[in-house]
Amino acid sequence: MKVLVVGSGGREHSLCWAIAASPLCEKLYCAPGNAGIAEDAECIDISAENIDGLIAFVQQNEIEFVVVGPEAPLILGLIDRLDEIDVKSFGPSSAAAILEGSKGFTKDFCAKYDIPTAAYRRFTNPETAKQWTREQGVPIVIKADGLAAGKGVTVATELDEAMAAIDAAMVEGQFGDAGAELVVEAFLEGEEASFFALCDGETALPLISAQDHKAVFDGDRGPNTGGMGAYAPAPVMTEALAETVMQNIILPTVKGMKAEGRPYKGVLYAGLMITDEGPELIEYNVRFGDPECQVLMTLLMSDILVALVAAADAVLDSFDLRWRDEAALSIVMATNGYPGSYKKGTEIVGAELAASEDTVIFHAGTARGVNNELLATGGRVLNVTSFGPTVKAAQTAAYAAVDRIDWPGGFCRRDIGWRAIAREER
Ligand code: AMP
Repeated sequence: MKVLVVGSGGREHSLCWAIAASPLCEKLYCAPGNAGIAEDAECIDISAENIDGLIAFVQQNEIEFVVVGPEAPLILGLIDRLDEIDVKSFGPSSAAAILEGSKGFTKDFCAKYDIPTAAYRRFTNPETAKQWTREQGVPIVIKADGLAAGKGVTVATELDEAMAAIDAAMVEGQFGDAGAELVVEAFLEGEEASFFALCDGETALPLISAQDHKAVFDGDRGPNTGGMGAYAPAPVMTEALAETVMQNIILPTVKGMKAEGRPYKGVLYAGLMITDEGPELIEYNVRFGDPECQVLMTLLMSDILVALVAAADAVLDSFDLRWRDEAALSIVMATNGYPGSYKKGTEIVGAELAASEDTVIFHAGTARGVNNELLATGGRVLNVTSFGPTVKAAQTAAYAAVDRIDWPGGFCRRDIGWRAIAREER
């Protein structure tokens, strides 16, 4: 098969790395890719959001299967356009990608299909939003309806903070159109986990669970980022709990989306809160998490390409996946200053040599300089990913690899996996 992966981050590098190992893959392209992806695929200079450009490339190069990494091209309708030209793909249509594109849609959908989630209201007027928020009291959660680059959620512990979040979104237009409508919802208490399932429109196949670290600094402090590290499996997600998530959340979603005329194909990523009353949905994403995908790909023993094609062909009901009976952990190395402003183009030395039998270095924001040196070009730059018999062993291997990389322009958290390691040591 001639395969195209769309995207340029660590998630896409791990997908390319896994797909390149498939005997089914004859030629692999990635648009636009990065310096690390270039080791596994031929990188094509077309941005992930240039839908016309991607379609032209697919037609000219007779691509037979397209795997879409990020949400933006899904919401822009790349899968619909590929369907029109009869090219197979992995990802939801734009009608199904609304599960990530509109939090209000997803909350109404959950209410209709009895999927457990926090109590909520939708608002298009700031005054009514404020009035209801005051009646509810704090803590409370304010969410922009649309895509806001991961910044659209405020968990407010003070009423002033909640009011400011409503004003910022609805009056000051902080998120543009994405914040013209808000969801205000009850605060859920518990431990968070990421749950992934491959879906084929009819049914779903669970993957292993993962946990990520959103805050920029150790101890889960500082502003939220796209993710500073992840590990899998998540010890909080026992087999019994995973079954509950499938029965109460994932399968009703797949059935409901079909009934709504928006059949869901691709990977469904449920952000969950494990509360005392059981798992509740915080949000849906319509693609793999980044860096969760990196740890999943490291642990997957089955052929990923065959699994993605099975999802596209709607034959997941007869499918099974095999995983290493180990833990994996990924550390994000980011440019100093991230998630605020940062300098581009600092040099990284030793990334190639840091890889070993149990460690893969996925690239997220890198490019080659004029002398082929490795340069940091983004906020999140490298994902040092290791596996081992325990989360602790994977963590030790990953930090040893981090320490072999010479990059004064970057930093990482030093406590990725702390929650799972504390459990292991109990
Ligand atoms: P989201 O973008 O919806 O995943 O929200 C970002 C983060 O805000 C989540 O990962 C949670 O840590 C937190 N969050 C969102 N909704 C809630 C809620 N209802 N209760 C508690 N925390 C929440």
